[in-house]
Amino acid sequence: MMTEADLDALRECVADSERVLTNPQVVQRLSRDFYWYSPILKKLLDDKIADAVVQPVSTEEIVRILARCYERKIPVTARGAGTGNYGQAIPLHGGVVLDLARMDAIERITEDGVAVCGPGVRLGVLENTARETGWELRCYPSTIAKASVGGFLGGGSGGIGSVTHGGLRDFGTVRAIEVVTMEAQPRVMLHEGEAVHEVLHAWGTNGIITKIWLALTPAKQWAQCVVAFPTFAEAFDFSEAIATGADWNKRLVTTFEWPIPSAFTPIKNVVRDGMALIFFLIDAGQLDSLQAAAKHAGGEITLAAPYDGLKTQPLLSDYTWNHTTLWAIKQDSALTYLQCGFSSTEARKQFKALKDKFGDEILFHIEFMKSADGTVVPGAIPVVRFTTEERLNGMIDTCRAIGVSVANPHNNNVEGGGRYRSDNVQLLAKYKYDPRGLLNPGKMITFQPQPEAEPVTAAE
Ligand SMILES: Cc1cc2nc3c(=O)[nH]c(=O)nc-3n(C[C@H](O)[C@H](O)[C@H](O)COP(=O)(O)OP(=O)(O)OC[C@H]3O[C@@H](n4cnc5c(N)ncnc54)[C@H](O)[C@@H]3O)c2cc1C
Repeated sequence: MMTEADLDALRECVADSERVLTNPQVVQRLSRDFYWYSPILKKLLDDKIADAVVQPVSTEEIVRILARCYERKIPVTARGAGTGNYGQAIPLHGGVVLDLARMDAIERITEDGVAVCGPGVRLGVLENTARETGWELRCYPSTIAKASVGGFLGGGSGGIGSVTHGGLRDFGTVRAIEVVTMEAQPRVMLHEGEAVHEVLHAWGTNGIITKIWLALTPAKQWAQCVVAFPTFAEAFDFSEAIATGADWNKRLVTTFEWPIPSAFTPIKNVVRDGMALIFFLIDAGQLDSLQAAAKHAGGEITLAAPYDGLKTQPLLSDYTWNHTTLWAIKQDSALTYLQCGFSSTEARKQFKALKDKFGDEILFHIEFMKSADGTVVPGAIPVVRFTTEERLNGMIDTCRAIGVSVANPHNNNVEGGGRYRSDNVQLLAKYKYDPRGLLNPGKMITFQPQPEAEPVTAAE
């Protein structure tokens, strides 16, 4: 529990002491994210709350805040927009939530398409700004309107665009990250090239991101298209052909087994009762060819329309990636999800094995994405009916036994999720940059705190 003296010390770190928030309702709201997607995490995290929220506006303020927190052994949990799904931004041991939303300046977009910006910049704002100069994001989560760039790097993985550009960690998309360390004298360090992997998807456990260099891609004119097929098997075949076909320029290929689309109530007009659906963002110049190919394969086009940026209605991406799960939970609160990777060659056999064993307890929602080796694979965020933790774990075990990888989203630590690196770079970085284990404590469970550790000096 923080004391009044702790709070006063924090107030001295910021130019305006009003940016140290202690109102219980505000602190509770800013201590939350979308952890409740998981019935397991909901039980575990419902009562976790920070003592205070601090809203820095500059790297200098962050350096001062971290120095004070180090000295007083106060935990610090970074927060972007709080849209993470695994309770990443929920403080397990009280202390400070560091709300980075005010560090939202886009410094510049370079001529060769690199956005240089603060961590609090909303991805939607960055996408719109980039498009004004002929660029766009390579990949973004379906929460683009709210989510921050810093939070995407800290806790996200990929999304719309990943079918062509891979995940956030692939293909040099994150060029460089500036990070403040948690030491007696916090250092401002630049991670470039391979060194970005120390910090990417580390849930703010080994440094506070203060500036980002994010590679963009030339903007395209896109179109939206929805195709319905009588069966999931037919929809999967067609979507796979487009997703893996090198000649198709696409930003999104999402396939839903029925009855998942029955939850998409605001866009009933594109849904067909009992049919599987595919959502595409496709090069506008290829829309006619896509429709012809879909009809030829036995599909019914239920939407074919220009895409005019994030204001387009309906905005198909609002129903894809982990938004699909949100619509499903709205329809039936007993539903939750998994995050899976099916085999590019054995997926059909894997679907059958899971259906034979679990029937409609698992409903397929496929998100095609490019892996680091360049192959496009059927990633998936299946909707799953939750009964017990044992049953859910049994389903995960079955997936893994038949070669379907699972990044378990019902976990509240970096190691248990999907993007922990087997070379341990995130953990090793924590030893270097947060020796006392004060950054988002409890989220990197293999870390052993070193309370008496001497600060690493700048000369090292
Ligand atoms: C409906 C829905 C759909 C989603 N779809 C996707 C999707 O398509 N793809 C995807 O990848 N994710 C998805 N997510 C998860 C989440 O929205 C994204 O990962 C998003 O980018 C997180 O950004 P945020 O600003 O909300 O981060 P937060 O939730 O605030 O933070 C995420 C993590 O990053 C850390 N962090 C935040 N800022 C910093 C910083 N400056 N320095 C260090 N660490 C920091 C936090 O401590 C936390 O551990 C979805 C979530 C929901 C609820």
